[in-house]
Amino acid sequence: MSQFWSPFVRSLVPYTPGEQPKLTKLTKLNTNENPYGPSPKALAAMQAAVNDDLRLYPDPNCDQLKNAVADYYGLERAQVFVGNSSDEVLAHAFCAFFQHDKPLLFPDITYSFYPVYCGLYGIESKIIPLDENFAINLSDYEQQNSGIIFPNPNAPTGCLLPLEAIEALLRKNTDTVVLVDEAYIDFGGESAVKLINQYPNLLVVQTLSKSRSLAGLRVGAAMGNPVLIEGLERVKNSFNSYPLDRVALAGASAAFADKDYFEDSCAKVIATREVLTQGLEALGFEVLPSAANFVFARHAHHDASELALQLRQEGIIVRHFKQARIEQFLRISVGTDEEINLLLNELQKHV
Ligand SMILES: *Cc1c(COP(=O)(O)O)cnc(C)c1O
Repeated sequence: MSQFWSPFVRSLVPYTPGEQPKLTKLTKLNTNENPYGPSPKALAAMQAAVNDDLRLYPDPNCDQLKNAVADYYGLERAQVFVGNSSDEVLAHAFCAFFQHDKPLLFPDITYSFYPVYCGLYGIESKIIPLDENFAINLSDYEQQNSGIIFPNPNAPTGCLLPLEAIEALLRKNTDTVVLVDEAYIDFGGESAVKLINQYPNLLVVQTLSKSRSLAGLRVGAAMGNPVLIEGLERVKNSFNSYPLDRVALAGASAAFADKDYFEDSCAKVIATREVLTQGLEALGFEVLPSAANFVFARHAHHDASELALQLRQEGIIVRHFKQARIEQFLRISVGTDEEINLLLNELQKHV
């Protein structure tokens, strides 16, 4: 029946999301969800938003949420864009900024949605290898491009770039958009948002899925110069003018306003990450330095896919990528202390 498809749909290679098993009672350490729930204030705001007003369309400009993000970062509302997940915000950014006649630059080991969006929008890309320590070396990106995109910290490695390295790139690369995907920045990094007033070509994208524990709500944001934001609005209003529903707007705004809860849950995740890292190292794993809510680890004597299978048989799910250079790594999300103990105890039986 695929004769009904538009011809280019045949050439698409869609993203493969991490598994969301239907079974309960699993220890789910495979998709970097937050082990702690969303802010109780966000939950209350969403419950209050479930009322007769749902017969009405939501605010297409999402002003309440843009104000909450702007307040959090000390920005103007015109410097903020919001969308239905950061994946959607990224898709709009690829469409708005990267369709020029030079290649988009991104790392060989990175968020695997980037090549998918290149396929969707017909964007040529040039893949820049990570260095021998699995780190991004931004001086490798000083070359002709239609744009540059990388996560900071990178996924799935967890490795963080200091803000000075990003600023050094921005000083040299002034003619195309540099997009920093900060899905994990709240777990130990310094946000590049503070550079957007100086660098009109810097776009910072964030999500409420990880550090604000709202993966199920689907909300993301971008911060940058008002001209970049206007470019995103043009694409968004050519695609879906009401991407965020009333419940999501209420919940996401309240989550951004509840700074105390947010900081507390990030601190707990960071503390458990250190326990996880030390526990894995004690079992003979090499663990890349992580500033995210996951670690990337390999064992010198045990095959990663076998370890993943053995864990799975005990109901513990971690992520394994069958990709050159990283096929011996496991990506393990930081769970609660109890979940991490369970994982370390199980691994101990196999290594
Ligand atoms: C999780 C993740 C996203 C997507 O976040 P959503 O808002 O849930 O779509 C984007 N970029 C990276 C690097 C991620 O890990």
